[in-house]
Amino acid sequence: MCRYFQLNQTAVEKLAARFGTPLLVLSINQVKKNYEVLRKYLPRAKVHYAIKANPHPEILRLMAKLGSNFDVASDGEIQTLFDMGIDGSRIIYANPVKTRAGLLACNSCGVRRMTFDSATEIEKIKALCPNATVLLRLRIDNKAAHVDLNSKFGAAREDALQLMLKAQAAGLNMAGIAFHVGSQTVVSDPYLQALDTTRELFAEAKAAGLNLHIVDLGGGMPIPEEKVKFNLPEMLKQISARLDEDFPEAEIWCEPGRYICGTAVNLITSVIGVTNRGGMPWYFLDEGLYGTFSGVLFDQWDFKLLSFKKGVKKVRATFAGPSCDSLDVMFRGVMTAPLEMGDLLLVPACGAYTSASATTFNGFSKAKFIVWEDMKHRIEVDTRSETL
Ligand SMILES: *Cc1c(COP(=O)(O)O)cnc(C)c1O
Repeated sequence: MCRYFQLNQTAVEKLAARFGTPLLVLSINQVKKNYEVLRKYLPRAKVHYAIKANPHPEILRLMAKLGSNFDVASDGEIQTLFDMGIDGSRIIYANPVKTRAGLLACNSCGVRRMTFDSATEIEKIKALCPNATVLLRLRIDNKAAHVDLNSKFGAAREDALQLMLKAQAAGLNMAGIAFHVGSQTVVSDPYLQALDTTRELFAEAKAAGLNLHIVDLGGGMPIPEEKVKFNLPEMLKQISARLDEDFPEAEIWCEPGRYICGTAVNLITSVIGVTNRGGMPWYFLDEGLYGTFSGVLFDQWDFKLLSFKKGVKKVRATFAGPSCDSLDVMFRGVMTAPLEMGDLLLVPACGAYTSASATTFNGFSKAKFIVWEDMKHRIEVDTRSETL
C-alpha cells in the first residue's frame, strides 16, 4: 500500500494541460485515511486538527465532517471555523500567548478551552474569558525533534504546580496538561517521557486539591521522509498502552497538523528557465520559496522533486523560484535528471506548512488548488479514450 498520495505521469500531464501550473492537487481520501490511522491506533484521543499546517477549506470541511475537533492559534483561525459553522466547543485555542483579539473571538464564537504557560497569561484569560477551561502547556526536552517547539513555549516542570494552583485560584477551570514534543517526531520516547512528567504532576496536583482530568498529547506525528525510518502504528500503540496504564480515567486529546495533511497534497510545477552557471545547470521553476516551497525556509523541509525521465544520467543542479529575489533558491547542488524548458516536476507529500505560509510576493499568485477526487474520473475517462 502506498503510504502517501502520489499522482502518476499521465495524471500529472493531463492536470497540467487542463489547469496550468503551478498546481496543488489534494486527495481528500488520503486526509481521511490519515485521520482514521490516528483514530485506530490512538483510540482514546480526540483529534484536534492543528489548522495552521493547512487551513484549506476543503480540508477543514472534511475534518469537520469526519467529526474532528480543531486546534487554533489566532482570532483569524477561530473566525474561519466559526464562519464554517463549527461549534466553539470543538475548538481549543492552543496558543500559550494569546492576543486580546483572540480572546475576544473566543467570547463571540463560544471557544472556552485554551492553554497557558505563564502567570501573565492567567491574568489575561481571567480578565477577558473568566469561564475558560485551561490546560497548562508543559515544556519538555526533545533535541531530536525536526522542529523544536519547546524553546519558545511551555512552563518549566518546577513551576507547573504553582501556575496550575494560580489558575484555579483565579477562578479558571484548571483541567489538565498539554505538551508538544516537536514536529515530525519519529520515536515514542519523547511522548512517553512527557507522559511520565504529566503523571507526576497529576499526582502532585491531586495532593494539592486540584482535579486534573485532561491530557493533551499535542502534535508531532510524523510523515514519511527520505532516509528516515519509523513505525507510526507501533509508536501510537506504545503511547496508547502508556495512557491506559497511567491515565485510565483521563480524557485524552491530540493536536496533529502535519500528519493529517502532509501526505495528501501534490504540487505540479514547470521548468520556466534553464541556464548554466559555473558548469552547473540552473532550473527556474514556476513555484518558489515565496510560494509552496516556503516550507524549505519555515519548516526546514527537504522536498522530493520527481521528473518522469527514465534511463538518463543524473546531474547536479540548482533549483530556483520565479521571483526577482536572489533569496528565492530552493535547492542547491541536488541530483536530478537533466531537464528542459516546459518539463513538469511532481512534488509529493507537500501538504503541510507549504501553501499555508505561501505569499504573493512580487505579484505571483498562489498556486491553484484542486481536489483529485473531483477530477480523477474525468482524467481517467480521458486516459481510456486515448488508448482506444
Ligand atoms: C503547530 C502545532 C501543532 C501541530 O504540530 P504538528 O507537528 O504539525 O503535528 C499542534 N499543537 C500546537 C500547539 C502547535 O503549535
